[in-house]
Amino acid sequence: MKKIVVKTPIVEMDGDEMTRVMWHMVKDQLLLPYLDMKLEYYDLQLKQRDETDDKITLEAAEAIKKYGVGVKCATITPNKDRVKEYNLKKEWSSPNGTIRAALDGTVFRAPILVKNVLPAVRSWKKPIHIGRHAYGDVYKNCEYRVPEAGKAELLFTNIAGRELWRGTIQDFKGPGVIQGIHNTDKSIESFAKACFNYAYDQKVHLWFGAKDTISKTYDAQFKKIFEEEYTKNWENKFKEAGLDYFFTLIDDAVARIMKTEGGLLWACKNYDGDVMSDMLGSAYGSLAMMTSVLVSPQGYYEFEASHGTVQKHYYKYLKGEKTSSNSMALIFAWSGCLKKRGEIDKTSEVVDFATKLEEAALETVENGVMTGDLMVVANPNPNNTKVGTEEFIAEVAKRLKKKLD
Ligand code: NAP
Ligand code: MG
Repeated sequence: MKKIVVKTPIVEMDGDEMTRVMWHMVKDQLLLPYLDMKLEYYDLQLKQRDETDDKITLEAAEAIKKYGVGVKCATITPNKDRVKEYNLKKEWSSPNGTIRAALDGTVFRAPILVKNVLPAVRSWKKPIHIGRHAYGDVYKNCEYRVPEAGKAELLFTNIAGRELWRGTIQDFKGPGVIQGIHNTDKSIESFAKACFNYAYDQKVHLWFGAKDTISKTYDAQFKKIFEEEYTKNWENKFKEAGLDYFFTLIDDAVARIMKTEGGLLWACKNYDGDVMSDMLGSAYGSLAMMTSVLVSPQGYYEFEASHGTVQKHYYKYLKGEKTSSNSMALIFAWSGCLKKRGEIDKTSEVVDFATKLEEAALETVENGVMTGDLMVVANPNPNNTKVGTEEFIAEVAKRLKKKLD
């Protein structure tokens, strides 16, 4: 069979532990037999990051800027235990954080839906995508434990040293706590642009929720920037595509999410996104059924699975025990990346291949062949069979081959 040519190189970022094991199985059995692609390979496994003083991560981010599309395996973010385990020079920071900062990107997550795993919320029929603003607010705060009675004030001094504004936070009669948070127009604008881009790209409606009735300056600024971005750059495009932009109060958004059938992107402020992405992830069934993509305002894309390196399974694997790790999100990271590459290159055969790969993976689960994490949440059926890590990928490969023949 003649291989399908992927015109532009893809940035491949290898990772750690069980996801690294699955990564190579997926590549060897589902991709390389069919695709003629050039991979710009960066090995981001922890030992490599340590040996290069983490330069390899920055190089990978630069490569994404050069080629536009990348795909990443899960990587270890080291803590004290990992420093000992891998004998590291230091506690390197999270590669995802480094890449996100380099690309100024926003992370979007979406569930992979199969017919035989029903979401916890009955009305959800289509994916609810979530986009979390990953800058500022309570994550970059300044806090103080007020020890005694006194006055807390908010003060802004401009760069020339002139005091522009001062307001009373509270006249304390006794001990308490105070907190200062901030955001910047630039970051909110990038977030808004990324959300409109993503929603338009995925052909889903965009919802944004904030609390501008209570926070008449802070949250109101978010609302204003989203509205300006919409009227300036998207209103016509959205109308033509039959898409809506909908702003509502965050509590109303939450209530409506429980009643919607899905098919939308829910843009969330930083804290809301932190909390709500975990709720969505668990309500949709399994961590291994969540994909993730980092989108930069310049239109660079980095695809990955939402889950981590599945450390516990890896230790079993090292001991030679049988594992049942789910590679769905990794497969969808590759298919998402190939679809985007094919769209940009205008190579429909690459997009077709990626679609068939997704179909093969979905059909495998829908035919009852699944890993342990899904066995416990899937609709009970005597045909359901629990398979191991390798067997699952082999089953997908079998179906993919049939589709391509
Ligand atoms: P994790 O790797 O997501 O795994 C947590 C648990 O979720 C697993 O023990 C497993 O549960 C289940 N699970 C996750 N993915 C699965 C899959 N594909 N198939 C089957 N079950 C799956 O999170 P973690 O154990 O907290 O983190 C491990 C390492 O990953 C850490 O070093 C962390 O820094 C890193 N991490 C990386 C990323 C990233 O690169 N994007 C994201 C998160 C975490 P059971 O054990 O119950 O089967
Ligand atoms: Mg969270």
